[in-house]
Amino acid sequence: YADSAMYHAKKMGRNNFQFYSRELTARSSERMQLEAALRRAIKHNELELYFQPQVDLATGEIIGSEALLRWNRQEGMVTPDRFIPIAEETGLIVGIGEWALLNACQAAVRWNEGREHPLRVAVNLSTRQFIQNDLVATVRATLIETECKPEWLKLEITESLLLDDSNHVLEMLKSFNEMGLAISIDDFGTGYSALSYLNRFPVSQIKIDRSFVRDIAHQRDKAELVKAMISIAHALNLELIAEGVESEEQANYLLAHGCRIAQGFLYGKPMPAAVFEQYLDSSTAVLQ
Ligand code: C2E
Ligand code: MG
Ligand code: MG
Ligand code: MG
Repeated sequence: YADSAMYHAKKMGRNNFQFYSRELTARSSERMQLEAALRRAIKHNELELYFQPQVDLATGEIIGSEALLRWNRQEGMVTPDRFIPIAEETGLIVGIGEWALLNACQAAVRWNEGREHPLRVAVNLSTRQFIQNDLVATVRATLIETECKPEWLKLEITESLLLDDSNHVLEMLKSFNEMGLAISIDDFGTGYSALSYLNRFPVSQIKIDRSFVRDIAHQRDKAELVKAMISIAHALNLELIAEGVESEEQANYLLAHGCRIAQGFLYGKPMPAAVFEQYLDSSTAVLQ
């Protein structure tokens, strides 16, 4: 009996191993296919930046937009959730990120021409971009090349970048700050990190994550957390923006509790640059 149990365990073990290794192989070959396709996409200009409006809740004015990557494949649009992680793992995000920055700056220059109040375009930066190359030099060169003013650009980073208390990151953020660039903490509240980084790093804005905004209206604890985030921002003199605003009810709550800026489907989904431009023109016309 013991022998047979041993035999079964071994057999099972081996089967398990085969099962896992087969699954791993399938997953990594899918990944490799996606990676190869992503490389082709970069070469053939299949990546596109979409822009989602950011609005002042009190006046309805569009004060900026967030640049969000899209990948137009023949099979349809691929959202960033599928390709950004691969781009990050493979390091392709460095090139993609530079491309996104360049395009965002070019758009910002177009849209700010003849405007009274600056319109800020927010660009997402992944942690990998801070490690791999001289990001500060790249940003500086891109601003010069496109003639984009620093006040037309905003850099979005995540809390995870600030986790490891790195001097390197601190120096880079200080340089951005000295250049006049705004720095926003994306997905604020989801990163499990200590709030003390808000003091140590030159941050200008916190962006309340969609997961908190979503349940404002019917979850008391979420609503309280949002209120606490708003207090923190006010106390530290930080700008605030709420992401993922989908209903009037959410917008009213935010405004009533002191969060003035919002981004979400209520005001517009991410859209191609040309469509955003029309949106901008028509909304300016309404305000005048
Ligand atoms: P994120 O930076 O937090 O961007 C906000 C995401 O929330 C976007 O998803 C946006 O479409 C979505 N969103 C905005 N308002 C609403 C709403 O009212 N309801 C709902 N359900 N969703 C809303 P998207 O475009 O799929 O981007 C996903 C993530 O991919 C981004 O999250 C960002 O982390 C990453 N990403 C996008 N573009 C870039 C990029 O150029 N570079 C880097 N490093 N990451 C990027
Ligand atoms: Mg973002
Ligand atoms: Mg976000
Ligand atoms: Mg997010």
